[in-house]
Amino acid sequence: METFGVLCERTFKCDQCDATFKRKDTLNVHIQVVHDGHKKYKCDLCEKAFVTPSVLKSHKKMAVRRVLFLVAAGVFWSSECLSRSAAGCGR
Ligand SMILES: [Zn+2]
Ligand SMILES: [Zn+2]
Repeated sequence: METFGVLCERTFKCDQCDATFKRKDTLNVHIQVVHDGHKKYKCDLCEKAFVTPSVLKSHKKMAVRRVLFLVAAGVFWSSECLSRSAAGCGR
């Protein structure tokens, strides 16, 4: 029986979690993103912070959509009804 392939798959394992990577630079990025908390982009709607502006952007999009959904569902509204056609706006 041949014992080949043992050294073929060299992986770099994160020492802080179970993640493994084929490249050391990918591992470094993972450590920065997941463990070092280089979160420079703070959401101004909540306490969360994100590593990249694109992640922050999509988070904010989701947050806005969630609020709109809750308004439409009648969960949230201000003293005034935002839209008369919204569900739950008794008429
Ligand atoms: Zn990790
Ligand atoms: Zn937020």
